[in-house]
Amino acid sequence: MDLENPFPRGAEKFQPPYCPNPACSSRTSAGTAFLWQRKGHFRRRCDGRRIQRFRCLRCRRSFSVQSFRIDYRLHKPKLTAGLFDSFVSKVTHRQAGRIFGCTRKTVRHRLLLLSRHAREFHAAVLERARRRGGLLGSFQFDELETYEHSRRLAPVTMPVLIELHTFFVVHLETAPRYLSTILRHRVFEISEQPA
Ligand SMILES: [Zn+2]
Repeated sequence: MDLENPFPRGAEKFQPPYCPNPACSSRTSAGTAFLWQRKGHFRRRCDGRRIQRFRCLRCRRSFSVQSFRIDYRLHKPKLTAGLFDSFVSKVTHRQAGRIFGCTRKTVRHRLLLLSRHAREFHAAVLERARRRGGLLGSFQFDELETYEHSRRLAPVTMPVLIELHTFFVVHLETAPRYLSTILRHRVFEISEQPA
């Protein structure tokens, strides 16, 4: 399945690439073909979208186009775009919950979902580039310095490699930046002083 274009002929013509059931024999034993058939439609309650259903002819389980989408089983899929904007705008989880009328648990769940999806998408794009002989272009190495909970006690460095013309992030890492011995002693002395 092409992650950049998962529905090349529209959602109605979507062909499932594999059975979503991890215990299905088409996924566990080598050489067992994945056979499937279309099995009607249903309407999603949250947005009224018409969804194609399928049945796996190996394990007889039913599934749908939704099984392959990031908003599978989400009660409020419309929150995702707004929450994504809040994540890249440094809005705190608590504030995002207030703005979008959801709990902090929902905000955290959506962040983990999007980050997993982004990692898988990035890995798939790199794998495709590797199969085609590697990445071509001009690359720039840069470094961002930030912190976790305290600028003084928990500084973090984030080295990043970017392709200049497409802004494709080839790789990004995070690592703790160690404090100098003098600064560490001063921070220790300040935190030890009686209030
Ligand atoms: Zn199956």
